[in-house]
Amino acid sequence: MNATERSIAAAEAHGAHNYHPLPVVVATAEGAWMTDVEGRRYLDMLAGYSALNFGHGNRRLLDAAKAQLERVTLTSRAFHHDRYAEFCTELAALCGKDMVLPMNTGAEAIETAIKTARKWGYRVKGVPDGRAKIIVADNNFHGRTTTIVSFSTDPEARADYGPYTPGFEIVPYGDLAALEAAIDEDTVAVLLEPIQGEAGVLVPPPGYLPGVRRLTTERNVLFIADEIQSALGRTGHTFACDHEDVVPDMYVLGKALGGGVVPVSAVAADRDVLGVFRPGEHGSTFGGNPLACAVALEVIAILKTGEYQERATRLGEHLHHELGLLVGTGAVQSVRGRGLWAGVDIAPSLGTGREVSERLMERGVLVKDTHGSTIRIAPPLVISKEDLDWGLEQLRAVLVG
Ligand SMILES: *Cc1c(COP(=O)(O)O)cnc(C)c1O
Repeated sequence: MNATERSIAAAEAHGAHNYHPLPVVVATAEGAWMTDVEGRRYLDMLAGYSALNFGHGNRRLLDAAKAQLERVTLTSRAFHHDRYAEFCTELAALCGKDMVLPMNTGAEAIETAIKTARKWGYRVKGVPDGRAKIIVADNNFHGRTTTIVSFSTDPEARADYGPYTPGFEIVPYGDLAALEAAIDEDTVAVLLEPIQGEAGVLVPPPGYLPGVRRLTTERNVLFIADEIQSALGRTGHTFACDHEDVVPDMYVLGKALGGGVVPVSAVAADRDVLGVFRPGEHGSTFGGNPLACAVALEVIAILKTGEYQERATRLGEHLHHELGLLVGTGAVQSVRGRGLWAGVDIAPSLGTGREVSERLMERGVLVKDTHGSTIRIAPPLVISKEDLDWGLEQLRAVLVG
């Protein structure tokens, strides 16, 4: 056995099989490139599901993390620390909101959004106790907790985890009439991804997000945008909602907020919403820790330059143009997405998404399949045009020959 086989065998013997990774064992990474234990190099076209928007080993983020590592890394929220106020101020400003509540993983931030919406419903909207309803979309992905999988429509993500948390109603994504019909006097929130990532990078029809905004405002319902994967530069704007000039009541952020260095998530909202919490009512040991705040502050500083949003726009246009040419060959059935983010439906005759991903891996490109014959392309936003073109050449070679 070589080093790769030994590593995979040990992982399979002692790690639970809740993932099916491609058979590559990464040892180091820099920018948009990863190197495996055999010294082979791969172009990373997944970027940790957008957690690595600013690339592997980003110098500014590593320097910020290293400096903070030497000062203080954890206080718990029992005490104040000197990076917290700046983090809250800067993140709230980036979101155009009054307040933030930091957590660690995306799922925790979604749980926080759910708790916030329910508490707001009871304390502010006046919904009778125990009746709060949250409307979500089919094919959603909001994380893996027992409550969150309760409103998943993916049988793999949901089966065998009941009894499920009540209080959620599922409507078809992109269907405003269905959403309007589902809203009643007990509805406290609508929770949506502005672009559905795990579902295959599904972009809703134009006018949908503004329509959701209008309906939720009219009916006194919170609009919660799960921007965990879509925000922070990926689509060419700071938030995917920006494409349609929509401002939700609450942003849920994660992934790239931690710069691929540490898990950092948060919800951001105005005081009339996030102000519902009193001491002891919600929390996290690691949420808002000094190391997380230091890295996230550097992420926010990077985003404030607009450089990566601009790169994602410019390289994204190129990516979508090139993928469009593949649609012309018949090898690809359709392409969706915005910015440096694409869901590519491969002609099923050419193999499953998994098979295409394995063939790309053999050519030094790492992508991830999603349901059936779809692959996702989301390289780090630091990728050069030359590397992007090389990656697309490999895709063409695998699909067209
Ligand atoms: C990844 C993701 C989550 C969950 O984040 P974790 O950090 O894995 O818990 C939630 N919503 C969306 C849209 C995501 O992409």
